[in-house]
Amino acid sequence: MAHSVLRKRVVGSNGRLAALGWARRGFVALLLTASALYGSGGSSADPGQGSRRKPKAPDNRGSRTATPKEQLQDADFAAAVKQWTTRPEFSSPLVDHLPKSPDVPSPKDVLGHHIGAPKVLTYYAQAVDYYRALAAKSDRVKVLPIGTTDEGRECVVVFVASEETIRNLEQYRGHLARLADPRSLTEEQARDVIARAKPIYHLMGGLHSGETGPPEMLMELAYRLAVEDSPLVQRIRDQIIVSITPVAEPDGRDRYADWYYRHRVDVTDERARIPGPPYWGKYIFHDNNRDINYSQVTMRRLLAWYLEWHPPIMHELHESVPFMYTFSGQAPQNPTLDPILYGELPWFSNFEMAQMIKYGMPGVWTHAFVDMWSPGYLGFMASNHNGMLRMYETFGNAGATTMKRKVEPSPDAPPIPGAGNPTSREWYRPLPPYKEVEWSMRNNTNYMETGVLSALDLASAFPRVILENFYRKSRNSIESGKKDAPYAFVIPAGQPDRTRVDYVVNTLRLQGIEVGRAREEFKAGGVTIPAGSYVVKRDQPYGRLAKILLEKQSFPDPALRTYDDTGWTMGLMTHTDVREISDKSVLDAPVDPVSEAKTRGVFPSRDASYGYAVAHRGSNRMITLRFRLKDVDVSALDAPLQAGNTKLPAGSFVVKAAARTRLAAAVEELGLDAVVLDAAPPVPMHALEPPRLALYSTWGSTQEVGWVRHALDAFEVPFELIYKERVRKGNLRSSYDVIVVPSQARSGKGLVYDLEPRGKPFAYTRTEQFKSLGMYGESEDITGGMALEGVLEFQKFLASGGLVITLGSSSFFPPEFGLTRTIEASRPSPQFYAPGPIVQAEILQPKHPVFYGYTTDLVPVRYAGGPLLSMPEEDRSRQVLMRFSGGEAGVLSGLMRNPNEIRNRPAVVESPAGAGRVLLFATNPCYRWQNHGEFNMLFNALLNFNDFARADSSGPVTNGK
Ligand SMILES: [Zn+2]
Repeated sequence: MAHSVLRKRVVGSNGRLAALGWARRGFVALLLTASALYGSGGSSADPGQGSRRKPKAPDNRGSRTATPKEQLQDADFAAAVKQWTTRPEFSSPLVDHLPKSPDVPSPKDVLGHHIGAPKVLTYYAQAVDYYRALAAKSDRVKVLPIGTTDEGRECVVVFVASEETIRNLEQYRGHLARLADPRSLTEEQARDVIARAKPIYHLMGGLHSGETGPPEMLMELAYRLAVEDSPLVQRIRDQIIVSITPVAEPDGRDRYADWYYRHRVDVTDERARIPGPPYWGKYIFHDNNRDINYSQVTMRRLLAWYLEWHPPIMHELHESVPFMYTFSGQAPQNPTLDPILYGELPWFSNFEMAQMIKYGMPGVWTHAFVDMWSPGYLGFMASNHNGMLRMYETFGNAGATTMKRKVEPSPDAPPIPGAGNPTSREWYRPLPPYKEVEWSMRNNTNYMETGVLSALDLASAFPRVILENFYRKSRNSIESGKKDAPYAFVIPAGQPDRTRVDYVVNTLRLQGIEVGRAREEFKAGGVTIPAGSYVVKRDQPYGRLAKILLEKQSFPDPALRTYDDTGWTMGLMTHTDVREISDKSVLDAPVDPVSEAKTRGVFPSRDASYGYAVAHRGSNRMITLRFRLKDVDVSALDAPLQAGNTKLPAGSFVVKAAARTRLAAAVEELGLDAVVLDAAPPVPMHALEPPRLALYSTWGSTQEVGWVRHALDAFEVPFELIYKERVRKGNLRSSYDVIVVPSQARSGKGLVYDLEPRGKPFAYTRTEQFKSLGMYGESEDITGGMALEGVLEFQKFLASGGLVITLGSSSFFPPEFGLTRTIEASRPSPQFYAPGPIVQAEILQPKHPVFYGYTTDLVPVRYAGGPLLSMPEEDRSRQVLMRFSGGEAGVLSGLMRNPNEIRNRPAVVESPAGAGRVLLFATNPCYRWQNHGEFNMLFNALLNFNDFARADSSGPVTNGK
C-alpha cells in the first residue's frame, strides 16, 4: 500500500518536482528509499518484538477489499488537499491521500468538510460528535469521558488501535500501571510485562485556543489511523496505542471559534493585527500551560486520567514559529529528570526532521526554542512521571484563513526568544523556512500530521525500547531515592498554619506522589521529627518529581536564558517549613500513607460569655471565614493577646458569642483555631467590614486577572470584575471600597490605552449565534482602553477615600499617571535578568495589617518583574512596607542576574492619595496558584482596607516584633 501511495506520489509529482529544479530531484531517490521502509511492514525495525508476534491476518474493516493495495482512496479529498496546499512541497506522501471507507465515517461525512478547509473551524461539540461517530462504526476507536470543564463541556480521551488492543484496553492499562510502579516486579517479571505491553502515545491539541489547527488535524489522524491499510498505519495500530485529547481547553475552543467567525474569518492581511478574544477558558488563558499545581479543573481531569493510564509519551501540539519546530529538550535542562529522557527527546525530533526533509518539506527544525527547565508545562506530566514530554510548534494563522505571511523578521523586530531569525540556516535548521509564504490551514495540517505520523512510525518501530525506557526511568527514580541524598523531604508537624501544609501535601498527592505521616517521633540527621509530620520518601516511582517540586532550584548556567520561570520551590512559595533529609535512615521511618490532608479546625467545646477569637496564623482561609460570616460583626486585634495558653497574633478575629454555631462550623471546616474569650479583649480592636471589591481588567490582558479571580473564587471572596466601560461611567466610590488592579500590560501606558483601536469596533457580546462570547464581561468594543477619562475616575475614587491596590507590572500605573505624585517607577538595566526566581524580602513595618499572620521579618517572595520604585527620602520610612533584600544571598531559588539592582528596593509601598490610598506591590502576591505564602498580603489588605492607619499610630517598626 505504501508502495502504491509513494509511487503515485512520485510518478504524479514528476512534473512538479522537475519544475522545482535540480535541488529537489534528490528527494525522488530518497522517497523511493523511504518506500522500502514503509513497504516492509512493522517487523524489520524491531526484530526482537516482531519475531515474537504471530503475523496477523489482513483485516479488511474500513477498506473495500481485503488487499490493502487496492484500498479505495477518496479522490475528492486528494483534490481538495492539493488545492488548499499552497505549494506542492508543503505536503507529503503520508497525508496527500485518504482512504474511503464504506462504513466508517470520514471527517467530511460528519462535519461536511475535509480537514484544512479554508475559513472553517470546528466547534468542540462537533469534534466530540465526530469521534463518537467514528467509534460507533469502528472497533478500532474508543471514546472515554473523563469529566467536565468549568463551563460544563465534557472532556474525553479517544483511543485508536487495533481491534484486539481496543478490546483489551483494560489489560494494556494494567501492564503500563505495573511498569509505572515496578516495586513489585523483578527484572525478569518486568521483561515479561514489557513483552506483553504496548506503549500509549498520547496527543493533545487545542490547549491554546488561538492555535486552531491541531484539533482539526487530530480528527483526520484518528480516521486515518482507524481505516488506512498502509503497512505504516497497520504497524502503528498493531504495535502501539494512540490516544488523543481532542481539545485540551474545550471552553476556549468554542469561544475562539465564535470570535473567529465574528471578527477574523475574512481577514487575509496579517498586518491587520486583529485582537484575539479576551478569554479562552474561564480563568487563565495561555497560562493553562503553566499550571504547575494543576489548579484548573480541565487540567486536573487530564492529570487524573494520566495517572490511571500512564502513557509513556505525551505530545502537545502548539502553533507559533514557522514552519514546524519539534522539541528536543535543549539546555537548560532539569538535572533531576532521568538522563535517559535527554537521549529520547532528540531521538524523536531528529527522526521527524530527517523524515520530513526527505519528503521535501522545508522549514522543519529542532533545538533552539523551548528548553527543559520549568516542569510546569502541561505535557510535563509525562516527563515528571518518568515518561516523555513531546511538543511541536507549527505555523498557524490564528484561524483557518489563508494568509500571506512574512516569515523573516524585519531587522528592527525583537528576536523570537531562543529562535532568533527563524529563516536562517543553522545546524539544527538545515532546510530553513522561506522568508515569505502564502500559508493555509491545510499546509499547517500537512506538517503536523506528517510529523505525528513520523513520530508514530518511530514509536511503532521501537515499542519495546519505549516501554523499556519507561520502566527503567520508573525503576531509576525509586533507586535514586535510595542512593542519592536527599532521601526524603519532611514537613514537620506543629507549624502555625496547618492549612498551607495541607495545601502542599494535597498538591503532591494530586500528582501521585506518595506522602506518609510519621506514626511516632523519630530522629534523622540529628534532628527530631515529631509524630504526625508528613514524610515524602524519595524511594518511590515519583520520588524524582517530589525532589523537583520541593528542592531549591539551582539554575545550571547563568548565561543561559529560559522560556519560563526558574524557581518554584513549594516550601518557599507557600511559606511552609519543608526540610530536606540527607540521613538515609529516614527511609525506614514508620509512616501511614496519606490519601488527603484535611485539617479539622479546633473550636472550644465550652460556651463563651463574651465571644471567641480565631487566631490569625497566616491561613489564606481567614478571608474565607470573614465572608462566610459576612453578615456578622467581626473585629480584628490591633496587637497580640495572650488568651489562656494561646497567643493570639495581631489581626486575629474576634466574634461575639451569639454567632457560635455558624462560627464553629466554619472554623472546623476551614482548619482554623478558635479560643474562648470570657471578656472583651484588653487590647484595641478594629471592625473588619467586608469590602465592596472590584477587580479591574483590561480587555487585552486578562490572564493575570484570571489568576486573581481564580484565587478569590477559590477562597470565596466576592468581587465585581470591571472593565473600562464601568470605570468610564464614573462614581466608582459609590460602588466600591477597594479596586484591585492585577498585573497587566508592561507599563502604565499599556494599562491605560490597552488594545489599539482598529477603525471598527470589536464586540465581545453574547448573541444568538455567538453564545460563548460576552462571558465574564461584555463590551461593544474591546479596543481603546480606559484612556485618560478612566485615569480621572481612578483619581476621583482615590480623592473620595478609596483604596487602589496594584500588583506587579500594574504598579507602573499609579506613578506614571501621577496618582502617586512623589513615587517614581523605573526599570532595571538590560543586564538584569530575572525569570521568576524566588527572592528574599524584608518586612519593614511588621505591625501593618498587610502583614498579619506573618511571623518573621524575612520572607521569600516570587520576583514578578514589577517596577523599581523610589520616593523622596522623607517618605521612605513611612511608605515602604517591605523591601527586597537583593544581592546574591537574596536569591533563594532560581536565577537572577545582577541581583544588586534590586537591593533594598521597595517591594510593597503604601502611599496616601487624596483621602484614599494606593497600595503598590512590586511583587505579585497572587501568582499562578503558586505563592500561597504571599496571598495573605493581598487578603489582609482587603480585610483591613480601612484600617491601614492603625499601624501608623505606633510608627514604623524596623526590627523584630
Ligand atoms: Zn501554544
